Amino acid sequence: MVFISTRGEEKVTGAQAIVQGIAKDGGLFVPEKFPAVSAEELESMLSMDYPERAAFVLHKYLDEYDREELLAALKKAYAQFEDGDAAPLVRVENGMYMLELFHGPTCAFKDMALTVLPYLLRKGCDLCGIKENILILVATSGDTGKAALEGFKDAEGIKIMVFYPDDGVSKMQKLQMCTQEGENVNVVAVRGNFDDCQTGVKKIFASDDCKAKLKEKGYLLSSANSINFGRLAPQICYYFSAYCDLVTSDQIRMGDKVNFTVPTGNFGNILAGYYAKRMGLPIGTLVCASNKNNVLTDFWAKGVYDTKRPFHKTMSPSMDILVSSNLERLIFELSGRDASLTKTRMQALSASGKYSVRPEELKAYKAEFYAGCTNEADTVDCMYEFFEEYGYPMDTHTGVAMHVAQQYEEMIEKDPAAEKRPMVVVSTASPYKFPQDVLYALTGNDVKDSFKGIKRINLLTAMKVPESLKAIRYKPIRFKQVTSPEKMFDEVLKFV
Ligand SMILES: *Cc1c(COP(=O)(O)O)cnc(C)c1O
Repeated sequence: MVFISTRGEEKVTGAQAIVQGIAKDGGLFVPEKFPAVSAEELESMLSMDYPERAAFVLHKYLDEYDREELLAALKKAYAQFEDGDAAPLVRVENGMYMLELFHGPTCAFKDMALTVLPYLLRKGCDLCGIKENILILVATSGDTGKAALEGFKDAEGIKIMVFYPDDGVSKMQKLQMCTQEGENVNVVAVRGNFDDCQTGVKKIFASDDCKAKLKEKGYLLSSANSINFGRLAPQICYYFSAYCDLVTSDQIRMGDKVNFTVPTGNFGNILAGYYAKRMGLPIGTLVCASNKNNVLTDFWAKGVYDTKRPFHKTMSPSMDILVSSNLERLIFELSGRDASLTKTRMQALSASGKYSVRPEELKAYKAEFYAGCTNEADTVDCMYEFFEEYGYPMDTHTGVAMHVAQQYEEMIEKDPAAEKRPMVVVSTASPYKFPQDVLYALTGNDVKDSFKGIKRINLLTAMKVPESLKAIRYKPIRFKQVTSPEKMFDEVLKFV
């Protein structure tokens, strides 16, 4: 399959798109056209397990990868998930389901892609005939960093370096990253917020000078951020799998439309849902849930994407993002695949922090998506009430999604013309990953110590504590470095 840049004429293979990460013109790689999954094919997926479903969907995009080898890599990746199911669908009540994507090694949905990306990348290098070592640079708001470190640790011929905002991640996220094992990893805190980290990494990627210096040392840059198609593609698969599970458990009939609510930050997860829909999966509305950083909600309301606003630190840090990088792919699609218009808008975004779309485009956005946001207090209430009612504990990000899903359902209730459909809320992290905030939401109690929080939640909910989080308590801190946004590349040079 051929991939093109959202900003111009660059055409590459899937392997190249993954190895390069970002197009030379600064655009993101998108498939030249969406591969279709027919009704018969969807039917055939019903009897498959998760790795088989994933291989089926992935191979539609990455057809130069060997199908059997891909399947073997996916089986190996998803065998690391607890209890043998990478993406279980949990029924809460009729018409309301949770898609749990947090059973991987780092307890957040990023594992769905980052356990697979090392294979896609290494094989991609082979397919492209690349001999150099690879240096992965990651900017993280918390969960990507750990999942990438874990995915790439001790991978041959690859080094990985993660930058995170010093005050912008939870204690547990920081602990997870700073205790990371592996000989090829480095973790550095940046004085600034996530956008500063992301901008710093993007600058390095865009700089010929930086790239030349790395090349001298035998390294080629690549990215594990969610703009990489190798991150996006494995995420498309769980939408298919959730749909299949709804059919096989007799919750819906084949062909019925289903809605999904996704807690959104960089717009990667929900975009994967949109890709699944474009491939033919019967998805109704995609509900885009934001926390107090509601740039996307305003965009859907007004057609203006405006990042010039205060940045809020919330208890759902992985969604504290003002520049949602993956939105560019949707902008491109809904502009009628107008690359030059997409380029103009993205230039406006970096020059003035905003851009707008035409009224007819906005209509298309509203037809496919509903966007809503919530605040901290309502999220806490929602998490509490949901636990009281269903005995189901959720993490803070999923709490945001649930509250916005409820707003959406209320709106549908009031509209006699609206079609009522089953709702799948995408659950992106284990409650144990944000123990203080979750404990506060469920009991009103504050604890200082994360592990005390874990213990208390466990007593309260009887939910199993993930082994990987238990183990962190006894691991030594390996990384303590803090740097400024301007000095990020100096740190990179010291590392390679
Ligand atoms: C990354 C993340 C999100 C946001 O996902 P995007 O793909 O960036 O929109 C939501 N919840 C959790 C727990 C995350 O780690």
